[in-house]
Amino acid sequence: MSTRVLAAVTKSPGVMVLDDVAEPGPPGPQDVILRPEVVGICGSDLHMYSGEVGALSGAHSFFPRVQGHELCAVIAETGPDCPGGLRAGDRVAVWPLRGCGRCYPCRIGRANACVSLELVGIHRDGGLQQLLCVPAPQVFGVGDLDAESAAFIEPMSIAVHALQRAGLHPGRRVVVLGAGPIGLATVMAATAAGVRVMATDPVAGRRDLAARMGAELVAWGDRAELLAAVAQWTRGQRPPRVIDTTGDPAALAQAAEMVCSAGRVVVVGMSAAAAPLRSGIFPEKEIDVVGSSCATAMDFRAAVRLVADHRDSIAALLTHRFPLTRAREAMETVINSQADVVKVLINVSGLK
Ligand SMILES: [Zn+2]
Ligand SMILES: [Zn+2]
Repeated sequence: MSTRVLAAVTKSPGVMVLDDVAEPGPPGPQDVILRPEVVGICGSDLHMYSGEVGALSGAHSFFPRVQGHELCAVIAETGPDCPGGLRAGDRVAVWPLRGCGRCYPCRIGRANACVSLELVGIHRDGGLQQLLCVPAPQVFGVGDLDAESAAFIEPMSIAVHALQRAGLHPGRRVVVLGAGPIGLATVMAATAAGVRVMATDPVAGRRDLAARMGAELVAWGDRAELLAAVAQWTRGQRPPRVIDTTGDPAALAQAAEMVCSAGRVVVVGMSAAAAPLRSGIFPEKEIDVVGSSCATAMDFRAAVRLVADHRDSIAALLTHRFPLTRAREAMETVINSQADVVKVLINVSGLK
């Protein structure tokens, strides 16, 4: 009889229960068995939790599923053919992504946009359980970084990839729409790269955090007020890049209007809803609109360093903590997102 471990299982939309699940078997030759420590909850977890899987890629059967893709863990056991750098006891962050290796995006080195992408915690079981088996190439050592900061590496990797897609140079300006965890990570990563940032968010506390993370200007207002703020910041020009992290379909029209001609809009936030916008704005201004999906292994490695360098700032974003036994409350806290909620963490290893 196999041993059982505790897990928070999303049985069907809106139904998360604590359950015993089978312990993973002995690791395959190139697998590692992990003991998850801390898991961050994010917007895509909510899409899935609430059954809005249209916002997620892939035609999979999603339920039942152990969620958790922002994940820090300790290696419990390594398979016999794992790279020598990975040892039991090491703390690691999990790059949740696995591509098929055969489709067009995989063949051109963009597995993060794989047509049958598999993400730990979304298409496969994730970190909200006491033991988890993943392929060794998906774990990245984090050295002496603490577990809570390490759980922020995955969201940081999303920001690194978005900046990669934006193609920014030091000294250039970017407007980041939305100062939730991904928006704030984008502000940090952009600032670290020498890029000048303006951030927008309706929540005052989040605007304050964006300023602390390095934004030169933070603003909120109606369409005209925001455009005026941008015009003032850019001395009448428009910014060459706008990154939308909001997941609000209306933000795309706003971004297209805000960006300067020949500029680029990067869409990171996910939504299942249609975006109302005038298509003529694209040829008129000759703007690029690009999507940004997950992160490559190289982005993830860069995110490990960025989080290590910014651990003190990141601590200010980690606002709520729950033990695994209260995972459902953690989800509800993100859903009912009060103004003071930024990043909600679930402590998996310190059960209470
Ligand atoms: Zn996430
Ligand atoms: Zn593929």
